Amino acid sequence: MNYVLKTNQLSKSYKGQEVISNVNMELKKGEIYGFLGPNGAGKTTIMRMITNLVKPTSGSIEIFGEVLTPASYEVFKRMGSIIEYPIFYEHLTAQANMELHFAYMGAYNIKAIDEALELVQLTNVDKKTVANFSLGMKQRLGIARAISTRPELLILDEPTNGMDPLGIQQLRDLFQTLCKEYGMTLLISSHILQEIEQLADTIGIINHGKLIEEVSMESVRGQQSEYI
Ligand code: ATP
Repeated sequence: MNYVLKTNQLSKSYKGQEVISNVNMELKKGEIYGFLGPNGAGKTTIMRMITNLVKPTSGSIEIFGEVLTPASYEVFKRMGSIIEYPIFYEHLTAQANMELHFAYMGAYNIKAIDEALELVQLTNVDKKTVANFSLGMKQRLGIARAISTRPELLILDEPTNGMDPLGIQQLRDLFQTLCKEYGMTLLISSHILQEIEQLADTIGIINHGKLIEEVSMESVRGQQSEYI
């Protein structure tokens, strides 16, 4: 199976008002798929349906070859996500936040914590509390938490929001490591073209709840190099 996620005529209405209309999208295994669209376009709503936070009004979502229902526990176990800003204990360190998270999950494992923090490059901030972290560091800690169960599909809503170019570059490197070395497939959203085009292999353009176009960045980069 080449596709990790596929939606079929996915739609959502609130009080009779359609906010997502007949979205058909496909995420290939191991790719970074970027959702691009202005605020209010519907990116978060689609991600919420994919992560079972809201129910589609019509249409379906297939993940790992299974049509999703609220009882698709085995599928949800294989997914990780950050849909809202991740919340931390601000007065604690990254390590302590990870320890609490693992303890809460009933899966305390110091080796897994160290590995996750190393992967997101937060091992050299031992004594710093999260209150003193930059936005990028907080995002990376959130990602460390989301990947602690080694999901095959990772869904991140606006992970680069408010970040400077260096922070975006660090996230891009991390995303590529997650795809290339850990075989994850990523769905990430942004409302800024320059950010998403640096990160994604495929861009799905969303406007007014519709998927307007899917663009392969490989083909765009190929065309650009012809003119250099
Ligand atoms: P943003 O970046 O601002 O979150 P977005 O592209 O993620 O934008 P959504 O948050 O998915 O957009 O919102 C899509 C549309 O659905 C908007 O018009 C929003 O007002 C509407 N909407 C989202 N959630 C609800 C809700 N619970 N009740 C009513 N309307 C909603």
